[in-house]
Amino acid sequence: MKNIDWKNLVFGYVKTDYNIRCYFKDGKWGSLEVSTSEMIDLHMAATCLHYGQEAFEGMKAYRGKDNKVRLFRWEENWRRLENSANGVLMQPVPKEIFEEACRKAVELNQEYIPPYGTGGSLYLRPLLIGSGPKVGVSPADEYLFLVFVTPVGPYFKEGFKPVKMQVIRDYDRAAPLGTGSIKVGGNYAASLRAGQRAHQEGYATAIFADAKTKQYIDEAGPANFFGIKDGKYITPDSESILPSITNMSLRELAADMGLVVERRHVALDELATFEEAGACGTAAVISPIGMIQDRDTGKVYEYSKDGNAGPWCQKLYARLTGIQYGEVEDTFGWCTVLF
Ligand SMILES: *Cc1c(COP(=O)(O)O)cnc(C)c1O
Repeated sequence: MKNIDWKNLVFGYVKTDYNIRCYFKDGKWGSLEVSTSEMIDLHMAATCLHYGQEAFEGMKAYRGKDNKVRLFRWEENWRRLENSANGVLMQPVPKEIFEEACRKAVELNQEYIPPYGTGGSLYLRPLLIGSGPKVGVSPADEYLFLVFVTPVGPYFKEGFKPVKMQVIRDYDRAAPLGTGSIKVGGNYAASLRAGQRAHQEGYATAIFADAKTKQYIDEAGPANFFGIKDGKYITPDSESILPSITNMSLRELAADMGLVVERRHVALDELATFEEAGACGTAAVISPIGMIQDRDTGKVYEYSKDGNAGPWCQKLYARLTGIQYGEVEDTFGWCTVLF
């Protein structure tokens, strides 16, 4: 076990000992390489740098109550990376290479997995980039797939507390027929200005309206949105939303726990009717939303009377994190026990 102040870990980069790399060259993937360097040697005309040919994933490995290490739904991350690769004409990563790289990255850096009880986990960042040179706009002939890991602390240092969000209409993160539904860096670049302004104005993140009509909820910054009302778990359906694996899991749990699940257009007007609201993604699992202000109309929607997350947010969070830490039976078979 490394000498790390586990209790004060944030969601940031901490150097680990190894990362795993695999190169696609001359029409085929090579064998996995273990590297101790944090640097990559990249051609200055690589397509990832100029034309945004890149995609990434985010997933976590957890040290459980039984001391075993679990990886959560990695096949879904592989499938999504394949979609992202196809979306920007990159060479998809074969499933066996993805799995082996993730397993190796966790195993070789196991001393960096935060101990059970600290609320931390080992974050895996698979990355696929066009590494071959091109000057004309066309897909690269060479690709680099790499997986690095970094230990991360609990997302909420002060506990599971609701945050404030802001509805905006003057920036779009993605167009309906664009790249919003794949995990590519360009979407993040496009959302940085809105995110920074939301922070400056005192909000955790900006909630984007759909780019076409500005009538519907799209994405809550880098996370999916959901609302709870009348015994229903409601989450937006949109062509420009990234299909969150956390959201997929919460929908399955919600249904299992007796909620009716609806995935459909969610009008911004409907914000007034929710009993609870949250944003979801791997980093935080659930960010309960206490209040949303509409930046244009000034309307305020409140979801927390006592400063705490609502009962369904709490129950869903407890069940999902319980499965990830091996405290609760993994009835859906979501975890792969690595060792
Ligand atoms: C990664 C991501 C999410 C969350 O997906 P998870 O699989 O739950 O981590 C949500 N929205 C955007 C835009 C993302 O990039």
